[in-house]
Amino acid sequence: MPATLSNPTALFDALMPIAPRPEVLFVKGEGSWLIDSNGKRYLDFIQGWAVNALGHCHPAVVDALQRQCAALINPSPAFYNQPMVELASQLAMHSGLDQVFFANSGAEANEGAIKLARKWGSLQRNGAFKIITFDNSFHGRTLATMSASGKPGWDQLFEPKVPGFIKVPYNDIEAVEQVIDDQVVAVMLEPIQGEAGVIPARRDFLDGLQRLARHHRLLLIIDEIQTGMGRTGTLFASQQLGIAPDILTLGKGIGGGVPLAAMLARKDISCFAPGDQGGTYNGNPMACAAGLAVLNTLLGPGFLAAVTRSSDYLRDGLATLSAKHRLGEVRGQGLLLALDTAHRDAREIVVAALAQGLLINAPRPETLRLMPALTVSQDDIDRMLALLDGVLTLPAASDGGQH
Ligand SMILES: *Cc1c(COP(=O)(O)O)cnc(C)c1O
Repeated sequence: MPATLSNPTALFDALMPIAPRPEVLFVKGEGSWLIDSNGKRYLDFIQGWAVNALGHCHPAVVDALQRQCAALINPSPAFYNQPMVELASQLAMHSGLDQVFFANSGAEANEGAIKLARKWGSLQRNGAFKIITFDNSFHGRTLATMSASGKPGWDQLFEPKVPGFIKVPYNDIEAVEQVIDDQVVAVMLEPIQGEAGVIPARRDFLDGLQRLARHHRLLLIIDEIQTGMGRTGTLFASQQLGIAPDILTLGKGIGGGVPLAAMLARKDISCFAPGDQGGTYNGNPMACAAGLAVLNTLLGPGFLAAVTRSSDYLRDGLATLSAKHRLGEVRGQGLLLALDTAHRDAREIVVAALAQGLLINAPRPETLRLMPALTVSQDDIDRMLALLDGVLTLPAASDGGQH
C-alpha cells in the first residue's frame, strides 16, 4: 500500500531509529494540544521537551516568523541583522551578562561555552582547561557535550571521548573541592538536573561553588537550556537560586519551537576572536525573530506570575494523585515538575497515557516529568490530572496483578 498521511507507517523506515517513536504522525498543534493524521487530539505536557515555551503555534511566534520570512530569511552569520542584534541586547540586559553567541541547539551553545572557557584558560589561567561536571548531568549529544555529561551508560559510548572533564557527585561540595587543581578552569552545571529526573541543586551547594570559584578563579558555566526562559517561574532559574553565572547557556524554550540557542558571557570572559567560533545559521533572523516574540511575551505583564500560579496548581494536583495512588515525591520548580512513581514503571505509564491522548515523559524508569506550555490553562491542567488518574487506575502490566 502506498504511504499516505492516513497510512504513514510505510514512510517511517526511511528514518534512522534514534528514538523509540510511537506510530503516530502529528500534523497540527494548538497551544497545549497536538493533533495526529487521524484527527486524534493529544494533551501535550512534553511540548517537544520544554521547547514550545508558549505552546504549539502561539500567534506571537507564528506572526513573527511570517513577517520575518517575508522580509529576510538569512543574510549570513557574518552580517548583522535586526532580530539578531535586538535579541542579543535584550538577553544581555535581562541576564546581567554582556555578550551573546547564538547557536542552533543547546549542545552547540554548550560547545561554545566549553571552547570559551578553554580559550579564557589559555589567556588568563596559564592553560587551565579541565571542566568539572556532575554525575547524571545532561549537556547535549555532540562528542564534547556527551563527554561533559554524566548520563549513565554514556561513558562507554563512542570512545574515545573528548578529554578534560572531571565528573563528581551533584550537590557534593567536598567532592568538587577535592578535584580542583591548577588545570581546572570551570565548573559546569544545570541548576536543576532535568534529564536526571528534575533534581534541584541545593542552595548551600551553589553558595559553596561560588566561594570555590572566587577562591580558585574558576568560571561558573550554568546550563539553563532546560530551566531558562521562564520555565521555573523567573526568566532564569539562577536568579531565584542566587547564583551568578560567568557563562550562561540557553536553548529549548528560547526559540518557542524554532531551533535557537544562546551562550552568554561577561565582557571580561568574552574572549573569542574572529574565526574562533561560528556557524552557518547562527543568529539567523528567522530564529531570532521567534526568540524575540517569546522573550517579549514572557516579559509581558503578569506572565511569569501566572507560571508560578499554574505551577502551584499542578503541583497540588500531582500531590493529590500521588497520595491516592501511593506514589512518591513531587518536585521541581515552576512548570518543570516531576512525580516519582515508586512501585510503578514510569515508562509503562507514559505508553498507557499516549493511548489515552496524554503526552508525558519519563526521564527515569521511576520518574514522570511534566513540562507543559508556560501558557497552560487551569482547565488543561485539570484534564491532564483526570487523564493521568485514569491511567494510574488501570492495572499496571509490571505490577504482578496487585491492583
Ligand atoms: C536539552 C538539553 C541540552 C541539549 O540541547 P539540544 O538542543 O538538544 O542540543 C543541554 N543541556 C540541557 C540541560 C538540556 O536540557
